[in-house]
Amino acid sequence: MKSYTCLMYHEIATPTKNKYYVPLDVFKRQMALLGELGISTLSLEEGWNKSDDRQVLLTFDDGHGSNFEAARFMASLGLKGYFYVVKDFSLHNPDYLSEDEIGKMAEMGHTIAIHGKNHKWWTRKSDQQLLDELGETKEWIEGITKRMVITCAAPGGFVDQRVIDTIHRGLPEVEYIRTVEVGLNHYDDKVIRIIPMHTTTTLDMFKWGVCCNPAFYAYQRAIYDSKKVLKRIYCLLGGEIKEE
Ligand SMILES: [Zn+2]
Repeated sequence: MKSYTCLMYHEIATPTKNKYYVPLDVFKRQMALLGELGISTLSLEEGWNKSDDRQVLLTFDDGHGSNFEAARFMASLGLKGYFYVVKDFSLHNPDYLSEDEIGKMAEMGHTIAIHGKNHKWWTRKSDQQLLDELGETKEWIEGITKRMVITCAAPGGFVDQRVIDTIHRGLPEVEYIRTVEVGLNHYDDKVIRIIPMHTTTTLDMFKWGVCCNPAFYAYQRAIYDSKKVLKRIYCLLGGEIKEE
């Protein structure tokens, strides 16, 4: 079956303060490599060309201010990104994308999408609270970009079947839900899995990811699964995983 890769970025900046930072020069090399490999960016709005498996979905979480420069560089190469923003971060924290920047990024051809009103886990919200907050964030984004929001990504990647069902029922236009589950994606699958991009991701690893190298995916999946088990044991022992 044909599949595509979804990459998950956060900050594109130096100095790297945590593992989620990818330095801008490294990011630029990764984007240039896509062109060299003949890989284009996937547009969820336009649909996946099933005869073409040389496509990748590029996503960015949290709406960090550094994403603006990354978005400009991508646009210069004809690449499209999906930027999942947090309303309260953008409105109250200067380290995050401003409304003006969000508008300009949409004009560049990128998609601005929902990461939440705040960064609290969706699995801990009631159905109504979740729909109210996502609906409010959706309206706010659409007011800026003048485009319908069709995708969202859960903070921390925490989704369960209730959250997925609630979103599909209450906000049917928000078709695609991006998680932090590791793996390849198929167009008919509206729950999007990812390959995480970290400071330590080498250019070789990037290439294996976007070229759908099976050994690389198996390795990433093993890391993801073992972390999941460790988290479960930690919680069973009484430990609590922080929301932010
Ligand atoms: Zn996040």
